[in-house]
Amino acid sequence: GSTMAKSKFEYVRNFETDDTCLRNCYIVVRLDGRNFHRFAEQHSFAKPNDERALGLMTHSARTVMEELEDIMIAYGQSDEYSFVFKRSSNWFKRRASKLVTHVASQFSSSYVFHWRDYFGEQPLLYPPGFDGRVVLYPSNQNLKDYLSWRQADCHINNLYNTAFWNLVQKGGLSTSQAEEKLKGTVAADKNEILFSEFNVNYNNEPSLYRKGTVLIWEKVNETTMKQVRLPNEEEKEVTVMRSRSKVTAHHCDVIGEQFWQQHPEILES
Ligand code: ATP
Ligand code: ATP
Ligand code: MG
Ligand code: MG
Ligand code: MG
Ligand code: MG
Repeated sequence: GSTMAKSKFEYVRNFETDDTCLRNCYIVVRLDGRNFHRFAEQHSFAKPNDERALGLMTHSARTVMEELEDIMIAYGQSDEYSFVFKRSSNWFKRRASKLVTHVASQFSSSYVFHWRDYFGEQPLLYPPGFDGRVVLYPSNQNLKDYLSWRQADCHINNLYNTAFWNLVQKGGLSTSQAEEKLKGTVAADKNEILFSEFNVNYNNEPSLYRKGTVLIWEKVNETTMKQVRLPNEEEKEVTVMRSRSKVTAHHCDVIGEQFWQQHPEILES
């Protein structure tokens, strides 16, 4: 504390290096589950998409947005989540290590804390971990391109995984046969395999799987019942309307302009 006399050991603090994030940039923290290929196997995740696991990821991300400051938007898919701090944020004096460790530890502890809400009686076999990194984006276009990059990644992986697991689960192929069959195919080929062999129209797959999850703050009007008692009157119930900010989840496209036009408050000039 500041009132304590300085000890002769105090000098070691000077070994700490400055990791202040450049002003005026969006700060993106991306987390990714450590060795989740194994974690998914050991916890019997449904393939290609386990809805419980996706729900738990999003619940944990929501907690991060609610508990930490200045996060405007988050995007998640598979075992990863990206959090975008507003460019004017001065939380923890923009120190990268503080931001990334707070995000990662809040997310990890939430993931464990809420496990049972999603997996019920199925036990959590060991404590999962998440790595984190910080990336700075100086322009609105860079930030939009970053989120587009993650969503394109979601699309590419999900199309591949959907084709792969249809070949295995419904087509009776071994995993190596399915891998062989998909080698060198482009998106149109995978769509065609899904449609002609399994009667699956990829565009009708759930948008949660195809687009991932976008979390943003939105004003919502809430009506609550309230007991009021006016002088010399009986107590009665009235409905009160109030508007408050809530984290809402969307499985929409962020690559086109429409999303950004509908939510102009996310990007700062
Ligand atoms: P910050 O978020 O800035 O770290 P903080 O409240 O965690 O704020 P610290 O300087 O880290 O502040 O101090 C941790 C505080 O936690 C201590 O002041 C003490 O009150 C409490 N604390 C931690 N461990 C124990 C413990 N084992 N027993 C009693 N109190 C504890
Ligand atoms: P690393 O530690 O390098 O990140 P990893 O095994 O976590 O290694 P990733 O590239 O992050 O590798 O891939 C995450 C893996 O987790 C996916 O390949 C998939 O097998 C699995 N996975 C994550 N979420 C789900 C889910 N909701 N449903 C099914 N499988 C999932
Ligand atoms: Mg990784
Ligand atoms: Mg991973
Ligand atoms: Mg990953
Ligand atoms: Mg502390």
